[in-house]
Amino acid sequence: MRVLVLGGDGYCGWPTALHLSARGHEVGILDNFARRLWDHELGVETLTPIRPLHDRVALWRELSGRTIPVFAADLTNYAATADALAAFEPDAVVHYAEQRSAPYSMIDREHAVFTQTNNVAGTLNLLFALKELRPDCHLVKLGTMGEYGTPNIDIEEGFIEIEHKGRKDVLPFPKQPGSFYHLSKVHDSHNIMFCCRIWGLRATDLNQGVVYGTMTDELARHPGLVNRFDYDEVFGTALNRFCVQAAIGHPLTVYGRGGQTRGFLDIRDTVRCIELALLNPPRAGEYRVFNQFTERFSIADLAEKVRHAGQKLGLRVEIRHLPNPRVEKEEHYYNAVHTRLLDLGLEPHALSESLLDSLLNIAIEHRDRVRTDVIMPRVDWRSTRNRTRPAAASDGAAGEAPGPLGAARETPGAAIIFK
Ligand code: NAD
Repeated sequence: MRVLVLGGDGYCGWPTALHLSARGHEVGILDNFARRLWDHELGVETLTPIRPLHDRVALWRELSGRTIPVFAADLTNYAATADALAAFEPDAVVHYAEQRSAPYSMIDREHAVFTQTNNVAGTLNLLFALKELRPDCHLVKLGTMGEYGTPNIDIEEGFIEIEHKGRKDVLPFPKQPGSFYHLSKVHDSHNIMFCCRIWGLRATDLNQGVVYGTMTDELARHPGLVNRFDYDEVFGTALNRFCVQAAIGHPLTVYGRGGQTRGFLDIRDTVRCIELALLNPPRAGEYRVFNQFTERFSIADLAEKVRHAGQKLGLRVEIRHLPNPRVEKEEHYYNAVHTRLLDLGLEPHALSESLLDSLLNIAIEHRDRVRTDVIMPRVDWRSTRNRTRPAAASDGAAGEAPGPLGAARETPGAAIIFK
């Protein structure tokens, strides 16, 4: 199968591209490298020293004999997106290419507008390009479990049967997203569902939980293939962050009471889920939703697990409850159905002591690279103007975010211009 991985330079996209390539699929990568720019903007770096994408695919070719063409293109540029689809002629597109940090989207107005423009307009361009150039292509789109929020009922896989005033229907599950980023995913879902209905496109919307881990079988083949590992307050996800904090002796930063419960999965399961979705495509016109996670934990559970694993490695690990910068329930019911990928054959990796051990060891190996000033949360959901860059805050500048790099710029009295 010919699979174009959009966002293939990122945390999930890079291991997915290699996994599919190793399984014999013809894989291409499209990315605009915006993620690397956002690191520069925030003054942060991945814990692991990742190589430029062109070096990574060259190394993969040496190791595997398999070529992965790279399309340097921005999905918000329709012509570039269409050119890539026309040149690669994919049977399936895996779409990871979005701004994926909730805190980043909550920095200020510019970052909220940028996130929604990048994500919603980018996906809309893709939908038009698919309809015009590759109408049979299977779109596998990464959504998030965060689209649903934390309702006081079980969360279904995309749809729920509702009886109202004596009549029944199967309708999209109600969404209560918790940030402008999560809202962008909900908007995407509506646009994709609509295009399947009106144009007969076929799509799988994968509502993914929080991903942890950094290693897959393919990445393990050479240190030069290493994946990114974010630990900063804006892009780091909970478990990866806690492991780095434990490695450098920083108290684990639990927001509020820590009863916030979410679905989680190992990155090895992310790449497998994508493959399963690709091998079992929906029919033309079908829009389907899979909840892509394997286990659920509260934030306090995760912190306890890291403390336990850290102590076994001789680390002194303290857990600190911070005032919650987010607006979210800290104790709540959470039960989400996630059977459709298991039915297709997913064999989940549970969060084991050995996985925690290996994550902690990666964090220990690279602890000299950790910037301690990017660990504590600075983005407050209640504020419309947050300071993000420690350097800017201390050098006498206003400390307000400068605006997303490579983003839409607003010219007074004119339309928004994309660089
Ligand atoms: P990431 O930021 O590491 O990777 C995203 C990639 O997309 C980056 O390489 C970036 O440069 C690229 N990109 C962004 N906007 C683009 C555009 N307009 N045009 C072209 N390329 C663009 O993110 P990730 O952690 O790999 O997440 C990938 C997807 O999975 C996202 O859509 C995210 O919402 C979803 N997801 C991730 C997680 C997680 O825990 N990481 C959880 C749930 C859902």
